[in-house]
Amino acid sequence: MNLDFSAEEKEFQQEVRQFLQQKLPKNISSKIKKGLHLLKEEYVQWQQILHKQGWAGVNWPVEHGGTGWTSTQKYIFDNECAQAGAPDVIPFGLKMVAPVIYTFGNEEQKQRFLPDILASKVWWCQGYSETGAGSDLAGLKTTAVRDGDEYIVNGTKTWTTLGQHADWIFCLVRTGPPSAKNQEAISFLLINMHDPKITVSPIITIDGSHEVNEVHFDEVRVPANNLIGAEGQGWTYAKVLLTHERTGIARVAPSKDRLIQLKQLAETSDDGNSKLMDDPIFAQKVANLEIDLLALEYTELRTLSAISTGKAPGPESSILKIVGTQIIQGIDELYVEAAAYYSMPYVPQQFEEGFDGQHIGPDTAANSALTFFNNRKTSIYGGSNEIQTNIISKAVLGL
Ligand SMILES: Cc1cc2nc3c(=O)[nH]c(=O)nc-3n(C[C@H](O)[C@H](O)[C@H](O)COP(=O)(O)OP(=O)(O)OC[C@H]3O[C@@H](n4cnc5c(N)ncnc54)[C@H](O)[C@@H]3O)c2cc1C
Repeated sequence: MNLDFSAEEKEFQQEVRQFLQQKLPKNISSKIKKGLHLLKEEYVQWQQILHKQGWAGVNWPVEHGGTGWTSTQKYIFDNECAQAGAPDVIPFGLKMVAPVIYTFGNEEQKQRFLPDILASKVWWCQGYSETGAGSDLAGLKTTAVRDGDEYIVNGTKTWTTLGQHADWIFCLVRTGPPSAKNQEAISFLLINMHDPKITVSPIITIDGSHEVNEVHFDEVRVPANNLIGAEGQGWTYAKVLLTHERTGIARVAPSKDRLIQLKQLAETSDDGNSKLMDDPIFAQKVANLEIDLLALEYTELRTLSAISTGKAPGPESSILKIVGTQIIQGIDELYVEAAAYYSMPYVPQQFEEGFDGQHIGPDTAANSALTFFNNRKTSIYGGSNEIQTNIISKAVLGL
C-alpha cells in the first residue's frame, strides 16, 4: 500500500476530521483524553452516531452494511479517531461475532442478528474462557445437550468482559460426549443473556474496576437455530474470530496518541527547571517505544491490506498482539515514571463521571498507576502472549 495520501485520501481525511469535530460528543472525548471510564450509554451513543454516518461496520462486507473502505482509509479513520479522543468501539458485536455470523451463519441468522449489531441496538459479550480452560480452551466443560429443537446449556464462563451489560453472549460449548477433549466436540452457540436461568457475578480487578464477570448457565434452553454453522465446527469459527480479536488488541492509533501525551507530560517541569525529557536515559526509552510503534504500524497496515482483499488475518495477528501489548505496557511504565508521586494515590472513583475529588498533579498523570495495573490484562486476554509465541513458532517458523 502507498502511504503518500492521494488527493481523494486527503479529502477523506478532511471529511473524517470534520465529522469528528461536529459529531463526537465533547463529554466523551474529554473522558477518553483523561483516561476515564465511559458508561455503557456513552459507548452506545458513539457507536450509534457512527452507524448513522454509515461508518460502524468498518471491516464488514459492503452487502451487509460495511464501509467498503480501502486499508488506507481505515488507517486514516483510526488515526483521526484516536487523535480526536473517540472511544474504541466495543469489539464483541461489531468486530468479533459479526464476522463469524456473516462468514459462517445462515441467511436467517444474518438477517436476524447483523442489522441490530450494526446499529448497536444490542450488547454482546464473549463466552469462551472457563476456569481451567483459558490457554487450553479446548478443555472447556460447558455443555449443550440437544433436546428436540433446543440445546440445554450448563456450565460457567469466566472473565466475561462487560457481560453485566450484555443482551447476548456468543459461546463455545461442548456438544460432543463429555469425555471427549478434542476440538471436534465444540460448537458455537448464540445465547440470549436475558434468560432467567443465567446469572452474572462480578469479578473486581486489581484497579478496582468492574469489567469482568462470571456467567453461570443452569439448564438454559437455547433454540437450536442459534447454532452457527455445523455442530462440532465451533473451533474453526472461533479461530477466525480470535485472529480478528488479536488484530484489534494491537491498538496502534491510541498508543500513538498516548505517546504524544506522555512526551507532553515529560516536558512539564515541577520546579520550572529540570524536565524528565532532558534525561537521556528516559528520552532513550521513549525513542525505543516510538521506533517499535512505527514498525508495528507498518505490520498492522500490511494486515489491514490483507483483510481488505477478503482474507482473515493469519498468524501475523499474533505478532500484532504481542508487540502491541508490549508497547501499551511500556507506555504505562513510562507514564508512571513521568508522573512519579502523582501516580500513587489509589482512588478508584476517579475513573467515574462526577468524581469531584482533587486530582493531584497534571490530568494525564492522575490515572497513570491505575491504568498501569488495568493494562496488565492486555498480555493475558485474547490468548496470552506466551501462547501467541507458540502460535508464531508453529505457523510462521514451522517449529
Ligand atoms: C481482563 C480480562 C478480560 C478477559 N475477557 C474475556 C472475555 O470477554 N471472554 C473470554 O472468553 N475470555 C476473556 N478473558 C480470558 C483470557 O482469554 C484468558 O485469561 C487467557 O486466555 C489465559 O487463560 P487463563 O487465564 O486460564 O490462564 P492459563 O491458561 O492458566 O495460563 C496461566 C499462565 O501460563 C501460561 N501458559 C499456559 N499454557 C502455556 C503454554 N502451552 N505455553 C507457554 N505458556 C503457557 C500462560 O501464558 C499464563 O501466563 C479475559 C481475561 C482477562 C484477564
